[in-house]
Amino acid sequence: MNSPDIRVGNGYDVHRLVEGGKLVLGGVDVPHSAGLRGHSDADALVHALCDALLGALAAGDIGKYFPDTDPQWQGVSSLRLLAEVMRMCREKKFALANADAVIVAQKPQLAPYIAAMKKNIAATLDAKADQINIKATTTERLGFVGREEGIAAYAVVLLVKNDRP
Ligand code: MG
Repeated sequence: MNSPDIRVGNGYDVHRLVEGGKLVLGGVDVPHSAGLRGHSDADALVHALCDALLGALAAGDIGKYFPDTDPQWQGVSSLRLLAEVMRMCREKKFALANADAVIVAQKPQLAPYIAAMKKNIAATLDAKADQINIKATTTERLGFVGREEGIAAYAVVLLVKNDRP
């Protein structure tokens, strides 16, 4: 059987919130009293998108390509990782149909920053605005997100084979 022309992938990521750290989501610096801790800029949204794309390619996960032991990725913008993953998709002749993501955060209010996140991600994936959707929700104060111990993100992507001559 030939490999299918469409591939779905999902990704999930969590980073711990620490007082005074920098909060970067979707490549946007979000003003907040706490930020996410991680090896790169700890952008959970972009990491979930990377994992969704890698999932669709059946190519493993973000830790396989950008290990947190590699100083090359220390403190870099996660958009750089996303661009590299998208390059892998193109190399395998897959184009993005759409991406849909949700950020799960109790605080801060993310609505004012969603448009800028969308713009960054669309630019990085070389996609149009209507191919990218980003949502944000709280957990009604339940669980680790509700206690403001961390922020999570989920992403789903659809890739389409693009090997017509
Ligand atoms: Mg991560």
